[in-house]
Amino acid sequence: MDSFEREAWQVVEILEQAGYEAYLVGGCVRDKHLQRPVYDYDITTSALPDDVIALFPHTVPTGIKHGTVTVLQGDGQYEVTTFRTDGEYEDGRRPSSVIFVRSLTEDLARRDFTINAMALSRDGRLHDPFGGLRDLRDGVVCAVGDPLKRFDEDALRILRGIRFACQLRFTIEERTFAAIVYEAQELGKIARERVREEWHKMLLSSPSLALDLLRRTDTLRYVITRPPTFDLQVNDPWGRGIDPWQLAGEWAEQAPADLPLRYAILLTALRVEDARVDKVLSDLKLSGALKSSIRNTLRVVKLGSPAEWRDVFWRETFYRCGKEAVRRAVLLHAILHDPENRSRWEADVERRAAAQPIWSLQDLALSGQDLIAAGLPEGPEIGRANQRLVHWVLQHPDANTREQLLAKLQDF
Ligand code: ATP
Ligand code: MG
Repeated sequence: MDSFEREAWQVVEILEQAGYEAYLVGGCVRDKHLQRPVYDYDITTSALPDDVIALFPHTVPTGIKHGTVTVLQGDGQYEVTTFRTDGEYEDGRRPSSVIFVRSLTEDLARRDFTINAMALSRDGRLHDPFGGLRDLRDGVVCAVGDPLKRFDEDALRILRGIRFACQLRFTIEERTFAAIVYEAQELGKIARERVREEWHKMLLSSPSLALDLLRRTDTLRYVITRPPTFDLQVNDPWGRGIDPWQLAGEWAEQAPADLPLRYAILLTALRVEDARVDKVLSDLKLSGALKSSIRNTLRVVKLGSPAEWRDVFWRETFYRCGKEAVRRAVLLHAILHDPENRSRWEADVERRAAAQPIWSLQDLALSGQDLIAAGLPEGPEIGRANQRLVHWVLQHPDANTREQLLAKLQDF
């Protein structure tokens, strides 16, 4: 047991010693059983939020309306939530009120899936009124209670269900699956940021399962709202006799769990045209940094097969697009067109990057000040000289020394 978990149990113990019930609950119980790493320990308790605040020296009222107090214990943070059930769901998104309840079982009943509706007490007992352990063993994602009602209450659960199936490589129980299909249109009510968060977890865990499930449940259109225009039935853009969506998922699956790379693979495999790429990315409210990583990678992909690049072209591309974009684009090329030589391509990028003479203007052996000292007039002349020096050094990677660049200046 690591210190993170030990401290979680300490929080449970303090609550118990004050006379309350307390348990580890939800994702951490699920992941412990699967021997997967646990990133957050949630605690459920009969104590009311004010009792929790009174009991621990360091707390933050993170979700007090929903009964959640964050307890800072040791180096960790623990969400401690009072047993509750959700009130009415007015808009299919958030409960309009929460009602604190007396029993653990009632609290477990409000949780989304059986595998997330288990609690563990300090004596090692598992509280599992909905058959979560059985479903964990069988590898099944199954809603707690009536799936139609549960997805109608909160449509985000639809994407959470698909996401757990991707992360855990589980199947979705039949009635739960049917309810997802039936309630899919409710996803239109969910904030794009929350859709994006679940989609990214799918993309990082299993893009091929994700696309397969999103398509089979007809929920893909709520994730990628501007799909490519080609007709999937008649168009086989890669001439492989395989549905391009399936191919896209399989290719992305081959890549490391890196969002910009996996995005670039999907967009390339689906032949999404430039104008549409921007719309897809903006519609998902991606961060500026992620968008520019993806666009940069696609820029390099457009330069064609790296097998055709000459040494100078490699250096120019590194300089213009940066190492990460080149690394991703080359890996994309290897996965799509030359999988047998993938490790050779990866090594090639590293070798060339190690030998790259300059990545930006700052790496030139002469600074702007040096140029002025060498007699160039301040102003646009400096910029032009820099351009030429960069060009020269990219052609002659060993030429990036003061002496050689000063000598070269005389030729301009
Ligand atoms: P992970 O942390 O890996 O995303 P998790 O299951 O821990 O998965 P959290 O969002 O951390 O998910 O939520 C903790 C627990 O709260 C869940 O295990 C589940 O019991 C409950 N829960 C979370 N979101 C919902 C929801 N939308 N509807 C019902 N129960 C939920
Ligand atoms: Mg969690």
